[in-house]
Amino acid sequence: LWYKSSHKIGGLIPTRRAFLRNLVAASAGALALDNGFASLAQTPRRAVTVASKRVKTIDIHAHCNINVSAIVKGTVLERAGGGPNLKDDLGAERLATMDQQGIDVEALSINAFWYAADQDLARKLIDYQNQKLADACAQYPGRFVGFTSVALQFPELAAQQMEDGIKHLGLRGAAIGENVNGEELSSRRFDPFWAKAQELDALVFLHPQSSAEATGISSRVKGPGALSNVIGNPLESTIALSHLIFDSTFDRFPNLKICTAHGGGFLPSYVDRMDHGCTVVPGDCKNLALQMRPSEYIRKMYFDSLVFTAEGLRHLVANTAPSHIMVGTDYPFPWVTDPVGHILNTSSLSDADKTAILGGNASKLLQIPA
Ligand SMILES: [Zn+2]
Repeated sequence: LWYKSSHKIGGLIPTRRAFLRNLVAASAGALALDNGFASLAQTPRRAVTVASKRVKTIDIHAHCNINVSAIVKGTVLERAGGGPNLKDDLGAERLATMDQQGIDVEALSINAFWYAADQDLARKLIDYQNQKLADACAQYPGRFVGFTSVALQFPELAAQQMEDGIKHLGLRGAAIGENVNGEELSSRRFDPFWAKAQELDALVFLHPQSSAEATGISSRVKGPGALSNVIGNPLESTIALSHLIFDSTFDRFPNLKICTAHGGGFLPSYVDRMDHGCTVVPGDCKNLALQMRPSEYIRKMYFDSLVFTAEGLRHLVANTAPSHIMVGTDYPFPWVTDPVGHILNTSSLSDADKTAILGGNASKLLQIPA
């Protein structure tokens, strides 16, 4: 039996406490802790080494909540913003999980739920969130960096918010969704944002959201299997990145640094088909003038390591480069129990590759001292 919904550790998304317990159970057993959070808070930090050298590990894909109920109450975002019960989660419980997993630094991001906001509300919300992220980074020195939140529905404002967050609050790059109210990220309207990201040499982290609706597959992914997530999310990323390639965003901004969650979804595993599309269906490629083959654009992109198996990671690295992959945990969602072991146990990677993926790459891209 692979899965039974009444299984005692809970459904597909166990509670946070069950998640932490599972982490402990799944670890090597050196620490016999089984009574939950109180003990976990005292868990020693797992020090990760490669070839006997300590590596500072950096998680590029870590969600966080900031309670914004006072700002969104009575607005179009009231329901999207997590509601009054959403708790800030930048504290001891998160640090305990990081210590257990061997994650030294998390790059925090907030999934964009504010693209329906008007300009006034968007300003207030983003100012508040970015300040809170900066506060958390200051409160736990060396453990967090934060991606700026930006109101991408107003591209000029988003560019300004990213610049302010980086220059005045010490935040790094920006985290964005993979479409904006149905509009592709490759729309020329967003060029001011991409121009600013390139000018600032800022890493932009892409994460899917409401992906079944966003991709139009809602009616096809009903029923069991969490299909709206396991198909929807990688599909949303695939569509967004494909437009950035074929609508020439990467040609207009050749030095963009984009990192996509979940290993980039389906795209890196099947990009070779894109190399052939315009040969087979030339009528669908009129006025197209790409500088490179689609598979070569993939090599310019960055991805997290959330591809589950050593073979998946080997393939992702083969289609990109070891310098373009970074650890992603998806905290607090239990997609992985040992994100560091996933890298260490992938035998196709050299020690230098492992060191780069575990933290070296993110250290360079996010200006985190090694
Ligand atoms: Zn995620």
